[in-house]
Amino acid sequence: MKKVKENVIAYTINKAIFSDFDILVNNGEVVVKAPWYFSRQRIQEAIKENKNWILQKLKEMENVSLFKTTKILGINYAVKVISRNVKSPELNLNNNYIEIILPSRIKGRNNNQIIDMILNKMYVKLTEKHLENVFEEIRIETGLAPEDYKIVENQDKIAKFNYDTKEIFINPRIMELDENCIKYIIMHELCHLQFKTHAKGFYKMLKAYFPKYEEYDAILREYKF
Ligand SMILES: [Zn+2]
Repeated sequence: MKKVKENVIAYTINKAIFSDFDILVNNGEVVVKAPWYFSRQRIQEAIKENKNWILQKLKEMENVSLFKTTKILGINYAVKVISRNVKSPELNLNNNYIEIILPSRIKGRNNNQIIDMILNKMYVKLTEKHLENVFEEIRIETGLAPEDYKIVENQDKIAKFNYDTKEIFINPRIMELDENCIKYIIMHELCHLQFKTHAKGFYKMLKAYFPKYEEYDAILREYKF
């Protein structure tokens, strides 16, 4: 970023015959528009007067960075990270991007881990909401329901079934996938209610409930479940 050093603000002066006095902060640059008769000193005083506002504007620009993209229900979302004077991190899920606001006090550190943690939290919340509907839908369609299901972070599989307790464990990252993939994975786990392993009967049952299962197995090849 340009030229904010120890409270000295660098700026470009743009003098014009008919110009009013104005300070613009664009892309980290400060441009002063001044009438031709303004002295250098007068401009400097105006800069001094507006110092806090200018620094604030420069800081805002500096702190907006497009961090990465992530998926929700198969749709790409840009992750925008902003540093601001807040007590704890915040996340806003907008129509086409995710905004993460980090407290400015943690700026400059390696924030990747914190951002991943915040995104994980978001996935947990989204999973809680979404899966309730998926289980209900499947229960109405097939009568199948697990004894219980748990959302568990950091497991290597996207979902797994415990045959003894009849519980399903779901990785919140499942929310990156589209709705059909999620439904298929849940359906797959529910077929384990009757079959512990992927035996012939397992696939027969799966096909009855989810005729296109082979297509989805192929799409989801890189996921373990
Ligand atoms: Zn399985």
